[in-house]
Amino acid sequence: MPAKELNKSCMECKDAEFELTVRKRQLCSLCFKRFIAHKVQSRLSVYRAFGLDGPKTQLLLPVSFGVSSSVLLHILNTDRQHRLDNGRPLGYDFKILVIEPSTVAATGNPFDQNYDALEKNFPMHTISRIPFHSIFNYVPEMEEIMREYAGSRFIDDSTRSNEERLAAFRASISTPTSRTDVDTVLLTRLIVEFAKKSGCESVIWGDSDSRLAAKALAGVAKGRGASLTWQVSDGMSPWGVRFEYPLRDLYKAELLQYESVCAELSDIVIPDQPPSDNVLTKNLSIDELMLRYVQNQGAKYPGVMANVARTANKLNPSTSDNAPTCALCAGLVGNVKGNSGVTVANQAEDNHSSQFCYGCMRSRPEELC
Ligand SMILES: [Zn+2]
Ligand SMILES: [Zn+2]
Repeated sequence: MPAKELNKSCMECKDAEFELTVRKRQLCSLCFKRFIAHKVQSRLSVYRAFGLDGPKTQLLLPVSFGVSSSVLLHILNTDRQHRLDNGRPLGYDFKILVIEPSTVAATGNPFDQNYDALEKNFPMHTISRIPFHSIFNYVPEMEEIMREYAGSRFIDDSTRSNEERLAAFRASISTPTSRTDVDTVLLTRLIVEFAKKSGCESVIWGDSDSRLAAKALAGVAKGRGASLTWQVSDGMSPWGVRFEYPLRDLYKAELLQYESVCAELSDIVIPDQPPSDNVLTKNLSIDELMLRYVQNQGAKYPGVMANVARTANKLNPSTSDNAPTCALCAGLVGNVKGNSGVTVANQAEDNHSSQFCYGCMRSRPEELC
């Protein structure tokens, strides 16, 4: 009997029965959570102050109710509570931002209960809830950028509500890849402006290693190689707010494991829709296709996918301050020195012209042929 019991015990604390296997180690749920949390905390160690009275950096955590951002929230909250209980310096604190999922995707899922559970389980934090179309309030120049970007396929009617105007703009973009692509750009701009207005120095994104690898591959396929730096690597974004990806050492499957042993998250997380066989591949965006590919292949060859994200994190942002940047996504307009990107002549009578990067041009409603 003792030998049998030994086989079942956690390899770390040897005290409890093991519940999960992670990276070939059999751990109890407590040791497992500690292992995962350590991977996150070491990524955020730059924000730790040296003394209790040190300045506290404010970070912004966008929560989408997906498993990754919810797990990240749980890890950061547990660490914060632990530090407060032990009188240790926080170093940083964070605010939570929810962009109403129903205004981003028409999934038909009401999420009020998830939001209520979020407020109930994490009462120590400032949680803000804003709709996607508040981009017109947070990024006032977006109105003009959208008009110029979309060209004649989109007629903006300023008498309509912001919600209708954003819907009309998104509807003018024809392919799923382009729609997802432009949505990502718009959501990033909205989150960044919210961070700035609420005094946050950094945005902490809940992208797992798997998603970062998928983003790196999809970014190249979509002609967005030039803006990959801040989409996948830690550092300064073009808008004066830092981007951090503290889940970069963790696979999506490990985050799902974490969620499974976290009762507090069960009412918060909206599970991923299982991939439907009815959806034709051509109706999937490149981003979705890549994510599926990385998740499938990552299960077989985790090291390879980890290497994609790790290599992408070594990309250095351009050091040139005067290089022309895209009005929509702030990517460099020229991919290489001397290449001036694409100039879009507006169809309007004022003959005004503006510049968007190659990646944005490819997603534009009216393609140049
Ligand atoms: Zn243990
Ligand atoms: Zn762009």
